[in-house]
Amino acid sequence: MNTRRRLGGVLAVLCVVLGTVSGCGGGSSPTAPTSVASTPTVWKQATSATSNAVAATNAFREYSAVTRTPAVSIVINAQPGVGASLQNWYSVGPALVSRMFSYSPYAKPVDVFLALDGTWVRDAILRNGWPNKDADEFRTLLNTNSAGTAWAAEVGFLAVAASIQGNSQTPGHEFFHLVQMKWVGNVGSPDGSNIPNWFWEGSCVFIGRQIAGELGFEDYGQARAKDASTASSVTARLIDVKSNDRNGVRPYEIGFIGVEYLVANIGMQKFVNIFDDYAHTRNFESAFARATGASLDEFSSAFEASRQTLLGR
Ligand SMILES: [Zn+2]
Repeated sequence: MNTRRRLGGVLAVLCVVLGTVSGCGGGSSPTAPTSVASTPTVWKQATSATSNAVAATNAFREYSAVTRTPAVSIVINAQPGVGASLQNWYSVGPALVSRMFSYSPYAKPVDVFLALDGTWVRDAILRNGWPNKDADEFRTLLNTNSAGTAWAAEVGFLAVAASIQGNSQTPGHEFFHLVQMKWVGNVGSPDGSNIPNWFWEGSCVFIGRQIAGELGFEDYGQARAKDASTASSVTARLIDVKSNDRNGVRPYEIGFIGVEYLVANIGMQKFVNIFDDYAHTRNFESAFARATGASLDEFSSAFEASRQTLLGR
């Protein structure tokens, strides 16, 4: 299971052993313009899990074909003994995410620390010029990594427990947390009081799986089917899956299916516009309604009506 922790000033995103990750928090300045109200959305009844996946994947591919920000320089810092495949995942996955969205660029390269232990990651973070408190916080995270596999720090680096590795959606997932924090700050939280975790984490799993599929790390359909199977155990309505803590419902897999359904219906730009609007209004429900052209309740009704189909049941 998975928790997010606010450690000092750094907002850490947790990636659980099963391959999902959690969110981050922060308070950076929004960079996106206020979005205008969309035309009303008519939610389609899903006819099959596959057709929904194809529609969302097509929307993602069309959007990701455009470079909106120069790709950031990713610097891989690998502890001796870390395998080449993990280093490759973290070289190319974050790079693709970094160029497909608009956000204020980083002043320095984004470090990725692939660590086997906390002592090494602390020293490496310090050696690369990051603050002491970040180094200490991530040493603790690495030393207690039974709850996660990867974390995103708002200041602009990723740290990965390479001994666990996680699954192949993690590189894109974690970098998208950095993008989220660029847009709206470090507002992810275990209780989901700012942005519910089905959307905060579900967005990251969706981006992570799309990136992994696009780059050939995994087969999207197979990975999706596995996540859908996990999500089938969730009985709560999607929009009620707000928290992300060890004792509650996992937001990752059901959130992924929810965001996939969302993108299949409205495309990527309106999905991004939810964050844009939230950056200005700090109200998720109204941001969702303004960006998508439909209320959260209308979306919820449509999703729940298609839920069993989307889960492949
Ligand atoms: Zn995450």
